[in-house]
Amino acid sequence: AGNVLEVRNLKMYYFTNRGVVRAVDDISFDLKKGEVLGLAGESGCGKSSLGFTLLGMPSPPGKIVGGSIKIDGREIVGLPESVLRKEIRWQKISMIFQGAMNALNPVYTIGYQMIEPLIYHKGMSKEEALDKAQKYLELVGLDPEIVNRYPHELSGGMKQRVVIATALLLEPDVVIADEPTTALDVVVQAQIINTMKKLKKELGLSMIFITHDLSILAEISDRVAIMYAGKIVEIGDSEKIYYEPAHPYTQKLLAAIPRLHEDVEKLEFIPGQPPNLINPPSGCRFHPRCPYATQQCKEQIPELKEVEKDHYAACWLL
Ligand code: SF4
Ligand code: MG
Repeated sequence: AGNVLEVRNLKMYYFTNRGVVRAVDDISFDLKKGEVLGLAGESGCGKSSLGFTLLGMPSPPGKIVGGSIKIDGREIVGLPESVLRKEIRWQKISMIFQGAMNALNPVYTIGYQMIEPLIYHKGMSKEEALDKAQKYLELVGLDPEIVNRYPHELSGGMKQRVVIATALLLEPDVVIADEPTTALDVVVQAQIINTMKKLKKELGLSMIFITHDLSILAEISDRVAIMYAGKIVEIGDSEKIYYEPAHPYTQKLLAAIPRLHEDVEKLEFIPGQPPNLINPPSGCRFHPRCPYATQQCKEQIPELKEVEKDHYAACWLL
């Protein structure tokens, strides 16, 4: 299958009065059609910033300062906001925002909130739009009758399913899901993951799944990208990343996951703090926390290179 998304040398910086925060700093990757790419890393590494940037809507005071984002072959960097809104966002690429289920408007019914984009973007009549909304509610495992209900009448898991259905309504080529299960309890989390796997199979969804929880990614992703301090430091098949991680940061991140039957006391934690992105460390940004750091690591930025077929890592050791 071809690539539905191609990102090259993408840079998005926040211009704050304390300095320039390099949240997305020279990132390149592809998303294949029908593929789920997991995007993981500690909080503050730039995962959500990358998600918003791909939608062409970095949060203020963020600006795309370089690079290219092609969705189904069409360049979206540099398009005016009016075109992004009319032709790209929700139609070509949509996002399940972190915490969106708590942002549903309490004064409108679920149906009313879902049909608005269909009427605006597709020029559908109210009846057609409601029909389609109900079809998508069924697809995510909800009773279509909930179009008549209000958000406060639904559980957290149900609201999250509404948010997922809404992100899919305009049949986008790419969906970005930002921590879609984080606020939910473990049982509901597993149900939502199963629903997303089903959607992937039935709709052939191409998705970027953002989370800080690597154990979830093993469940759902075909490939995984690991972000550290605004850069992708490793990317490859999910199994490779999970069982044979090449980058020292990925190895540390995996060692910090609690596994079943393992003594919690033995969990490793990564010493040190994620770096400040106003003045990121020189050379390899992980060097202050890396047990293998050398002089070269402090001075030169490692680029992603292929360590084996379709498996890339940015580390001078490799
Ligand atoms: Fe560690 Fe050096 Fe590799 Fe960075 S480049 S992860 S500091 S060994
Ligand atoms: Mg985030």
